[in-house]
Amino acid sequence: MPDVLLVEDSKFFASVVMRRFASVKGITVHWADSFAQAREKIENGSCKCFMALLDLNLPDSPRGEVVDWFVQQGIPSIVFTGGFDDKIRDTILSKNVVDYVLKENEDSLDTLVKSVQRIQKNKSIKVLVVDDSLTARGLVSKMLSIHQYQVLSAEGGGEALKMLDEHPDIKLVVTDYNMPDMDGFQLVKTIRKTHTKEDLAIIGMSAQGNNILSARFIKAGANDFINKPFLTEEFYCRVAQNVELIEYIELIRSMSYTDPLTGLANRRRFFEVAPEMFNDCVSKGEPLAIAMADIDHFKRVNDTFGHSAGDEVIKRVAEELKARFGADGLVCRFGGEEFCVLLPGKRASEAAGLFEIFRATMENAIVVYEHSKIKCTISVGVCTGPVESLDYMVTMSDDMLYDAKNSGRNQVVQTETAPYDS
Ligand code: GH3
Ligand code: MG
Ligand code: MG
Repeated sequence: MPDVLLVEDSKFFASVVMRRFASVKGITVHWADSFAQAREKIENGSCKCFMALLDLNLPDSPRGEVVDWFVQQGIPSIVFTGGFDDKIRDTILSKNVVDYVLKENEDSLDTLVKSVQRIQKNKSIKVLVVDDSLTARGLVSKMLSIHQYQVLSAEGGGEALKMLDEHPDIKLVVTDYNMPDMDGFQLVKTIRKTHTKEDLAIIGMSAQGNNILSARFIKAGANDFINKPFLTEEFYCRVAQNVELIEYIELIRSMSYTDPLTGLANRRRFFEVAPEMFNDCVSKGEPLAIAMADIDHFKRVNDTFGHSAGDEVIKRVAEELKARFGADGLVCRFGGEEFCVLLPGKRASEAAGLFEIFRATMENAIVVYEHSKIKCTISVGVCTGPVESLDYMVTMSDDMLYDAKNSGRNQVVQTETAPYDS
């Protein structure tokens, strides 16, 4: 579990911070009550922290030496301070810390938790900085690195477009306006031909900032604009807000195509992804099987053991399908206790064999829920092809499932046409 080291001489404040983090999943906070103790914990390896929360005023660190030391170790740090004025702010920020938090501020603990979580996530987020000035590019890149983003940089539009091609996982582009090969507007307009505002955030920047420039940047397709020179806090807030927007959209998207009980793709996702897989098999001349699997007499499971036990059975079936077919194929929960599997690259006889093994595994499996031991069987209908169309194959596999149910359940029934078996 990722660790955070809190260095704080006030036992009371330390316990308040630790209590606040106790409810935060995936983060463990360790406490050191002095600079010396903190140093020892890091140097002897007893605390491998990805981040430090540092009190600016400690008895053995009267001039913020603790902050300099942690920053030198390359450990991103947030500083707590009791007193606050412009001079203290400038001193803290000049030490290249992630952020500062005022102790007496009521919502400072929430800010602190959010900052720590943000930094933890930033390590996996790629940001591209585009500026023809080496100094400006260096400054922005350095600031982003302090917040642990993976920073890439380009000195012009052409290079930026090339890097976007090479790194399709870039989430944010920060671009200057005035550049020799292609100005910021042109770059934004070109990027928008291939990347939507929901997939990639763009922040425009310019030293010649005026309202027209910012409006034009946004009209060209940028998500936001920052005037140079800027305040450190404003820069970080805008960057974080734009990254969060992209993350929220990703989350909503993934929720809209994932079944919450099993984590499998849902029916909507199936019909988004499957047509391409179907067409791919057709064009490559490769076999493809579609299977519809349905738990037998599932209503009885619910009636006998309760709905929650039924849920466990559904999850167990989903896990088995995912383990067996998830790597090569597409496994979906179509609804209720019905699953659909698209399996490319397997000849009809091979596919039927694999579904038979799955069926037999489930017949012998026991799902333990509280004090109950639950057994269930599964019927599977398989259509092998590719034949006709995806919709036709789905309907055919459903028909085969119907036959399996009518022939006594707990069996695999397959279509007779097996175009790739001869
Ligand atoms: P058959 O062998 O013909 O498929 O019979 P069955 O009882 O499995 O089929 P039926 O369609 O009559 O009943 C399916 C049941 O599945 C009814 C429904 O309440 C239950 N069900 C659907 N979704 C869920 C779920 O998410 N959790 C649980 N526990 N039950 C569910
Ligand atoms: Mg059923
Ligand atoms: Mg059913």
